[in-house]
Amino acid sequence: MRRKLAAGNWKMNGLSAALTEIDGMQEAADGASEVLLCPPATLVAQAAQRAGEAIAVGGQDCHAQASGAHTGDVSADMLRDAGAAYVILGHSERRTDHDERDEDVRDKCRAAWEAGLTVVLCCGESLAEREAQNTLDIIGGQLAGSIPDGATGHNLVVAYEPIWAIGTGKVPTTDEIGEVHDFMRARLERRFGEGVGRSVRLLYGGSVKPGNAAEIFAVSNVDGALVGGASLKAADFVPIIEALN
Ligand code: 13P
Repeated sequence: MRRKLAAGNWKMNGLSAALTEIDGMQEAADGASEVLLCPPATLVAQAAQRAGEAIAVGGQDCHAQASGAHTGDVSADMLRDAGAAYVILGHSERRTDHDERDEDVRDKCRAAWEAGLTVVLCCGESLAEREAQNTLDIIGGQLAGSIPDGATGHNLVVAYEPIWAIGTGKVPTTDEIGEVHDFMRARLERRFGEGVGRSVRLLYGGSVKPGNAAEIFAVSNVDGALVGGASLKAADFVPIIEALN
């Protein structure tokens, strides 16, 4: 049985004062689902201390090397040392802002696993790719290229985040989400075997809000959400966690 996961990606938002929001999420986080918060790197250690047992903490990226001359970067070991259990990799904003390619994401994924982190691997198509009916090809290519050999239900979570749905208020239909999630499940089973393929959790991300969460969570092979804007405030994130519980 896959444990549901409500994951929050704070992106480049939040100063230390924002950590008080975590307190308001604690009660909901005691429910059946797992709750994960990924604050900016500067807040990972403080967030991990404040979150305690009920809420896991993750980074939003890591370098492919364990250490060295890479000014400004953060290694997977450093995240782990700061109290993180997870790291988001391959988010479309990193693919765009930092020209990350599938091979880069794959190398980072290996480094994260080496450090003992669970990876939330992001994939998703652009609007032009969806309109050209290339969505499944794009997702299939990203999964094949970004995930190294050795995935398990423990070290990998996959998040489907259509780029056109991120921060726009636009959400695919439940049929469209279901089609992609069923496809991702089949691809993971084919590559890693049925046991592993069935145990990897698949999240949907892109304009998830309290008002649409329950409908999205009812779609087959949706095991939770990767939430951006609506994870910043307990008042928004708590109803999403509760919809999953
Ligand atoms: P929004 O929930 O703000 O659309 O962001 C989704 C996202 O990119 C999470 O990683």
